[in-house]
Amino acid sequence: LIRIRDLSKSYRRGGQEIPVLLDIQLDVPAGDFIALMGPSGSGKSTLLNLIAGIDQPSSGRIEIGGIDIATLSEASLANWRAAHVGFIFQFYNLLPVLTAFENVELPLLLTDLSAKQRRAHTLAALEMVRLSDRMDHYPNELSGGQQQRVAIARALVSDPTLIVADEPTGDLDRVTGAEILDLLQQLNRDLGKTIVMVTHDPKAAARASRMVHLEKGVLVSEDQMNAQA
Ligand code: ATP
Ligand code: MG
Repeated sequence: LIRIRDLSKSYRRGGQEIPVLLDIQLDVPAGDFIALMGPSGSGKSTLLNLIAGIDQPSSGRIEIGGIDIATLSEASLANWRAAHVGFIFQFYNLLPVLTAFENVELPLLLTDLSAKQRRAHTLAALEMVRLSDRMDHYPNELSGGQQQRVAIARALVSDPTLIVADEPTGDLDRVTGAEILDLLQQLNRDLGKTIVMVTHDPKAAARASRMVHLEKGVLVSEDQMNAQA
């Protein structure tokens, strides 16, 4: 599904080039569940943002579903992202002035679905994360775990092929985090969603089908790590 070749990224700051990702090669087959690990500042979020088309590479190529995302215009990239990528963040990123239902429905407002269809999709996504009984609650009326489930429903509502999650359990206690991981695993197994998840937690990473490590912008797969050990 994802094919990354010779990908490098650096940021320019105060006339200096700061390299963040160096010559990354990565293949993510459809249906894969990858855990991306590595120390703080190693470039994990940067890599996710590049995969999601939120940020542009300095050099190299990212193909998703056979499409080189650099060849898309800004508008078609935005459309492509809305249709194919769901995001989950550490701090949920829900809009506080919207109810759970409205937060989940939000991505669908950019589509040409009718109000009735949007409602049906939204209810189905809330059902999937078992929050139908909380749909009229505002984020501040929900627990952290429930807010993250709303965020997962929002990520799912447009039925994306790919879900990218940046430390989805980073702000949750162990038990609640485990429930979120159960849910992600279920989306991967039962719905065939491809997932790329950043995590610092080895227990969380163990849920994935594969682990890759970033060390100072260089990608090292788990197999290579074992070979070195
Ligand atoms: P963490 O585990 O703390 O979230 P990370 O692996 O996700 O870390 P990134 O957020 O990808 O790390 O950042 C990697 C490096 O890139 C950091 O050194 C950071 O300072 C730098 N960086 C990230 N975004 C920018 C930016 N917009 N401008 C300049 N430098 C940036
Ligand atoms: Mg990060």
